[in-house]
Amino acid sequence: MSSFLLEIVTPERKVYAEDVNMIIVKGSEGEMGILPNHIPLVTPLKIAPVIIKKDRAEEVIAVNGGFLEVRKDKVVILAESAELPGDIDLDRAESAKQRAEQRLGGKRDESDFRRAELSLQRAMNRIAVKQR
Ligand code: ATP
Repeated sequence: MSSFLLEIVTPERKVYAEDVNMIIVKGSEGEMGILPNHIPLVTPLKIAPVIIKKDRAEEVIAVNGGFLEVRKDKVVILAESAELPGDIDLDRAESAKQRAEQRLGGKRDESDFRRAELSLQRAMNRIAVKQR
């Protein structure tokens, strides 16, 4: 099966670097499948799981926003933060979710509301990936 190099990088570390057969990401226009030899492109990513197909197995990574860059030689995901299921602390994500929900319930200005919304999306993304 043909493959390409996938790198997932955050400002803190390289989270993933493996040869994979296909990935499914959530771009600004919806879900996209990337196969080997895809045309070069750059697109923003939503806070969502990235699904990786590799040697008939499936892996999932919580990618919390960022950009997908398809290059000739590899595919790079530059994320604000990204975690493998084994790195996700479920209790921490559950507490972050509760805090965000409380903040959304309170009367706040628009930027506080948006921050709480993004925080809730990150927490729910981590919970979904951990519980898959
Ligand atoms: P919290 O409120 O729990 O800090 P957050 O969404 O604000 O969550 P981020 O700013 O996205 O956190 O991430 C900061 C760092 O903490 C990143 O390195 C991220 O990978 C890590 N991180 C955040 N939440 C978790 C979690 N539940 N399990 C493991 N690592 C996490």
